[in-house]
Formats: sequence, structure tokens, C-alpha cells
Amino acid sequence: MENIEFQFDNSYAQLPERFYTRLPPTKVTAPQLVIVNEKLAHSLALDPDALRGELGAEVFSGNCVPTGSEPLAMVYAGHQFGGFVPQLGDGRAILLGEIVDRHGVRQDVHLKGAGRTPYSRGGDGRAALGPVLREYIVSEYMDGLGIPTTRALAVTMTGESVYREDALPGAVLTRVAQSHLRVGTFEYFAARKDIEALKILVDFAIDRHFPDLVGNAQPAKMLLEQVLRRQSALIAKWMSVGFIHGVMNTDNTSISGETIDYGPCAFMDTYSPDKVFSSIDHGGRYAFINQPNALQWNLAQLAQCLLPLIDDRTETAVSEAQGIIDQFPEIFAEDLGRAFASKLGLDCGPGEGLRIALDLLGVMADQLADFTLTFRNLANAVQDDDEADLFLRQFEKPAAVHEWLGEWRSRVIKDNDTADAARQRLRATNPAIVARNHLVQEAIEEAEKTGDFVLFHELLAELADPFSERPENSKYVRAPKPNEEVKRTFCGT
Ligand code: AMP
Ligand code: MG
Repeated sequence: MENIEFQFDNSYAQLPERFYTRLPPTKVTAPQLVIVNEKLAHSLALDPDALRGELGAEVFSGNCVPTGSEPLAMVYAGHQFGGFVPQLGDGRAILLGEIVDRHGVRQDVHLKGAGRTPYSRGGDGRAALGPVLREYIVSEYMDGLGIPTTRALAVTMTGESVYREDALPGAVLTRVAQSHLRVGTFEYFAARKDIEALKILVDFAIDRHFPDLVGNAQPAKMLLEQVLRRQSALIAKWMSVGFIHGVMNTDNTSISGETIDYGPCAFMDTYSPDKVFSSIDHGGRYAFINQPNALQWNLAQLAQCLLPLIDDRTETAVSEAQGIIDQFPEIFAEDLGRAFASKLGLDCGPGEGLRIALDLLGVMADQLADFTLTFRNLANAVQDDDEADLFLRQFEKPAAVHEWLGEWRSRVIKDNDTADAARQRLRATNPAIVARNHLVQEAIEEAEKTGDFVLFHELLAELADPFSERPENSKYVRAPKPNEEVKRTFCGT
């Protein structure tokens, strides 16, 4: 088979050898292309036509390494549910290389499920089709909402089975990310007291993600502060759409501030602040409402790693790093308040926005209101109760939300001049549809069991257009019926 050239411009592969292991993906027996993300391919200056056929299957399964690739597995460490693992690394992923995209942004092209590596520990290095489709659907949906995330470029089936509890069809996801640097990458070198490597990593992260900081006199401190800001903004955005990541381990906390690692993640149906979906999160460490705390904890691990670079005097370094971490609650409250003020269609400041939102969220939690539908239907409750049926229907006892509604209505009309302007603004901020668990699961199950991807493509098409109005009884809009509701999600690794 002919090869293909990607316009790779690899920077990570130029770092010292102790940052990775060079190795190619492991070949698969019968690669078959499921999907290529044509828009994303175009933005990476790849030719979707050339990649649609057999060559695409070969490239995106790892059978054919494109010219210019310097395949490698990255090493990292991480705190998983609070316990430190000194070496993790890409156990089933291969970085093919980096492409500077049409917007001038350097992007990693990475195969997930590409076979064993020195970091596989007990694992088989492979991925099952279900979790791969899930990551494709949810990550592309997040991007459509404007929430920073890794992207999905392609899915191929391998023609091989992977063995979890059952034999499942194997697949490879081609993932694109602004980088795969994680808090855990810093932890790997900090645990080894490899200060030289930490310095290299700080410079690399700054060059790649925070070019404004190049030449700054305090790079490590500034990096910490900027990662904190990006991650804070990210988690505020997650929470504003009812997203629960599910595995906020330090190896899944990216330095670029993108959502990474879609395992047991989920969008909530009914609002419950303590909601947990992940089958492995027994203590609720990564419950919806705990996500900011989990992030702060992860950022404190990053701070710890950077101490020797912040100041030679330990005490000074600790107090500087602590000063940054201590700012987190305030910065996060502002990010969250801004996000919710915007969801409510209000011009008020973040403090006021958060107060008003929390009052509503309190009633929603008491009454098991659907998160997405409640916010979406605010647009139908702007003027009076006659049109507010769809909103009020989200509450078992609508009387409980009347006082709130009255206060909000007077503000939202004032802030938007006309009721129509308010409605438009609300509909542009609150998605009509989300990648609900039961929809994702239905599409995955069809693909797994019958090899048919009709529902997968249909769901992708719906989710690509999250803000348009649809009939209230559309299966993509309505909440799951009790027998459809998915209560548990799995890593699938
Ligand atoms: P994750 O839960 O996907 O964040 O993965 C945590 C760690 O386990 C990473 O080092 C992965 O590379 C590794 N891992 C997950 N699944 C597999 C697998 N099937 N084979 C080898 N390593 C794996
Ligand atoms: Mg991970």
C-alpha cells in the first residue's frame, strides 16, 4: 500500500529520550474505517478524500505510519483517586506527531488503542469500540458547545476482539489535542527529582500553550497560575452544562486546559449536585459538585512539582505556590458565576449571577428537575406563566419556583430590552440537546451488536447542532423515560 505524508512538525520527539519511548503502533488484522472527521481533517491540512478509503483505514488503525511521523509513547505519572502511581504513561496510545493546523495551533495526532507499549502494565494496549465511539461523540459535542477539548479525527475497527468481561470489537480512536501534557507529566519527573527535566517541561509547556510568558522571569510560577486559570474556566464550563468528567485524576488534567479522557463521563439528566455515574468512583470523589475541589487538589500537586523551580528557598517557594493555589476558590466562583449569569440571560456580575443560579439550582435539586430542559425552557418563561408550561413542567411542585421566576423575569426583561431579545439570548446559551447517556448508549449498542452505525451518525448530526429548537417530544430533546435512564457509566479500559 502506498503511504501518505502528513505535514508533521514534531517538537515533543526532540525532547530528551527519558520523556518517552519510541515505538510504532502494533498492526491490526483487518482495519476498517468507521468515520473520518472531515472538518477536523481539513483544519489539519489533511486531505479527507485521500483518507476516506483503504488508506485511511491503514493510517488510522496504525498499520501504516504516515511519512514524517516519529511515533512514540509518552511517559507520565499520576494520582489516581488520590493515590500516587509513579509511572503510568501511554499504555495503549501512540503519538504519531504534531501538525501546525490552519489556525497556527500545534496539534498532537495520537492513536488511542494502538497496542502495547512499555507503559501498558497489565493491559492489552487496546480499546473497545464502545468507549471509542463514546469519546468521539462526547468530545465532538463538547467542541460544538465551545468547551475546550481534545478532538476526534477518526475511528477504525481493528477486526480483532478485545477481552474485557466479554469479547468486544476492537477499535482505534485518532485523537487530536493541543498537547498531551498532563499534571502527571510533571509528577513523573518531580518524583524522580529530575529538576532538569522539569525545567525543560516548563519551557515546552510555555512555548506551546502560553507564548505570552516566553522570557518571563518567573516561568514556573506563571505557568502554575495560567494552568489554574484555564482549568478553572474549563470546569466552570463543564458545570454550566451539567457535565461530570468522572475521572479527574492528575493524569487526566491537561496543561493546555482541554477536557481529556472521556471515560465514565456523563451529562446529568435530573439535577443532583452529588451525582456520580462512574462505577469506580465509590466515594464520590469526582461527583458533580466536587469537581472544583478535585481540580484544586490536582493543581496543588502541580504546584508541589514546581516548587524547586519557583524558588531555591523552600519556604519562599511554598508560600508563593500556596498564594496561587489559595486564589482558586475566588477565581472559580467568578468563572462559574459568569457562566451561569450568561445561562440566565443576565448582565449582572458573577457574584449576583451565582446567587440567582444557586437559588434556582436548589429548587431543581429538591424537585428532580431535568438540568438541560430547565435551563433551555427558561426561554419559554420570559414573559408570563401562560407560555411557561415547558419550564414549569420540569418541576414536580411548580409553586416552589414561582418566587424565583418572578425575580428573574423582572431582571431578564430589563437586561435585554425586549422579551424576544431575551429568548434569543437564552436559546443561544442553553443547548436544546446534550449527549445524554441513554442516547449515547443506544448508538453504541447498535454498533457493537449489529455493526450498524446509523444511530451513531444520526446522533452525531443532531449533536452538531445543539442550539436549534426542536419539537419537545423529539427523542433527542426529551429526558429519558425511567426505563431508559442510565445510572452507571464505565471506563471500559
Ligand atoms: P485512563 O483510565 O484511560 O486514564 O488510563 C490510565 C492508565 O492506564 C494510562 O496509563 C493508560 O495508558 C493505561 N491503560 C488504560 N487502558 C489500558 C489498556 N487497555 N492497555 C494498557 N494500558 C491501559
Ligand atoms: Mg488517562
